[in-house]
Amino acid sequence: LVDPNSGKNMSKINVYLRFRPVFHKPDEEPEDSCIRSADNSTIEMINLRNTQETVSYKFQQVFGENSSQEEVFGTALQPLLSHFTDDVQNVSVFAYGPTGSGKTFTILGSDETPGFIPRTLRHLFARTRKNCSSSNITATFSMSYIEIYQENVHDLLDDRKKLFSLRQDNCGNILIPGITEIKVENFNDFEKYFVPASHQRRMAKTSLNERSSRSHTILIVKLTTQERKAPFLRKTAKLSIVDLAGSEDNRQTGNRGLRLKESSAINTSLHVLGKVVVALNKNNQHRVPYRDSKLTRLLQDSLGGSSHTCMVVNLSPEMSSIFDTQRALNFATKSM
Ligand code: ADP
Ligand code: MG
Repeated sequence: LVDPNSGKNMSKINVYLRFRPVFHKPDEEPEDSCIRSADNSTIEMINLRNTQETVSYKFQQVFGENSSQEEVFGTALQPLLSHFTDDVQNVSVFAYGPTGSGKTFTILGSDETPGFIPRTLRHLFARTRKNCSSSNITATFSMSYIEIYQENVHDLLDDRKKLFSLRQDNCGNILIPGITEIKVENFNDFEKYFVPASHQRRMAKTSLNERSSRSHTILIVKLTTQERKAPFLRKTAKLSIVDLAGSEDNRQTGNRGLRLKESSAINTSLHVLGKVVVALNKNNQHRVPYRDSKLTRLLQDSLGGSSHTCMVVNLSPEMSSIFDTQRALNFATKSM
């Protein structure tokens, strides 16, 4: 796809599917699965209307229950990172899917099975160290870590800060005035700030489960490169790693009162993200509704144009999740 205005190549969004193993307690029979991978790019799902039949969907790649963190990172995200480090272009990556499907596992992972964030940061520091030592360019990184909950932006690196608005500069970059931005020089540096913030978030989550499934968490890594001999020749780019709110339809889970009121608007940002992605894929550059939600406004400079995006759609395989799975598959197919 070519952008008619700039003549630049517009990359489509790469959509990957991932499903986790079926959960089961040691003393119980595992539940049946409603999906399986037919080959490495096809997923088959039980037909909701006729459970004797299956429906197939094709994607860039389907990662099944046995896929490793290394494989998913290496296929979906790592190839995009050279656009960030070498071309100094914006990159964004999203994990989409219902609560419990493995979004946070994909984005964050655990100490034993690290996900996108730790793998990406290690990769970035290693790669730029190599690139910069053989050229006359210096590179610096900084990070911000934020949450969008009910259309408000929160600073996960300083929870005393409140109420952020978004602004756009003359070059089209989206800024969050006042948000904490920490310079990080190596992986240890990064961990020092990131790990406490993510732990704190995880603890807060268990007491506030509802919030965890309804908020978007975004790590933004900013890269600035400068020519050693001409420091005014500066370039910047942003890498955004997004753990999205749960895609389940909360109206069906018997919510009442405040929860129902909150749910009936679904999740504005998630809803608008779907529309933005569809508009971009139709090459409808002038009708992209970025401004209709905080998330899409914040990522306006990282979705479409000369930026590069991939989306991992996570699914829960259990038969009891079939409706959420169908919704997520519909979203994934529309996004390609
Ligand atoms: P979400 O963030 O979408 O709500 P989580 O990432 O928290 O879901 O995953 C739910 C549970 O499933 C967690 O205990 C997680 O460790 C586990 N899990 C998710 N994906 C996988 C996977 N691919 N392999 C093994 N366990 C997984
Ligand atoms: Mg999660």
